[in-house]
Amino acid sequence: MSLREFVALGTSSQVPTRHRNHNGYLLRWDGAGFLFDPGEGTQRQFIMAEVAVPEVSRIFVTHFHGDHALGLAGIVQRLSLDRVPHPVEVFYPASGEKFYRRLVSSTIYHRTVNLVPRPISGKGGVVTEDETFTIEAWPLKHSVDTYGYRIKERDSVRFDKDKLAQSGVRGPQVGQLQREGKVELEGGEVVTLEDVTVPKRGAAFAFVMDTRPCPGALELVRDADMAVIESTYLDEHKLLARDHKHLTAREAATIAKEGGVRGTLVLTHFSQRYPSTKPFVAQAKEVFPRVKAVRDLDRVPLARP
Ligand SMILES: [Zn+2]
Ligand SMILES: [Zn+2]
Repeated sequence: MSLREFVALGTSSQVPTRHRNHNGYLLRWDGAGFLFDPGEGTQRQFIMAEVAVPEVSRIFVTHFHGDHALGLAGIVQRLSLDRVPHPVEVFYPASGEKFYRRLVSSTIYHRTVNLVPRPISGKGGVVTEDETFTIEAWPLKHSVDTYGYRIKERDSVRFDKDKLAQSGVRGPQVGQLQREGKVELEGGEVVTLEDVTVPKRGAAFAFVMDTRPCPGALELVRDADMAVIESTYLDEHKLLARDHKHLTAREAATIAKEGGVRGTLVLTHFSQRYPSTKPFVAQAKEVFPRVKAVRDLDRVPLARP
């Protein structure tokens, strides 16, 4: 399934409002489903977004404040109820082990889902890799232990049609070239994959939640094709942002700019004190041009590089 989109399931910080659910974000990426920070009510938001919970293949919790994790209990029970056949890895700060355990065993249910805990500690870097993705976690600067996540598709190559045609490689030999990296033509000439391909950069997605500006945030967003960054406050409350270890929209945009974000900056995690997100976009755009402030159930396509 070739679908790449970010679905904002909930976009409110701290408490839900009439229009915004607690946090919750799903990144759908060619059949993989990455669920970030399931806050309270995330299970229901899947229904509102018309996405099936069993699409979730990995779960990422940045930290154990309730607005980022209370919904984990419901999601793991739903995954069990729906008898998802695949294992589901759950990434979270290792210091929150007791909260993780409580959330996945909070009430009576029959656990059928194979949850694979992936506690994270340390200074940051790659936490897992498979054939398609490299996943990194970097520490952020919040009032409690917090990690942001970066998902990077592996770089690959694609055929250059003209070069391939000129090379004389035809039919089944193309497959052989792909599998073995080189192929010998009838005349004895050897054609390598590098001769007839061009490099294809894999897409990168960054998820930066509750934090002050910090080196970890910059590591996460470097050259990203989409960067989701919390922006709890506006300029007029920048001292509150500093004191409560959060970002303003302008600070989020500055991280995107300094990190060289190539695609869209997605702003979320808004304080309930603000009736509109228009000023968030306006203040961020003074620093970084491509900004979207998401509402619940918004979908943002992840562009191919
Ligand atoms: Zn929060
Ligand atoms: Zn927090």
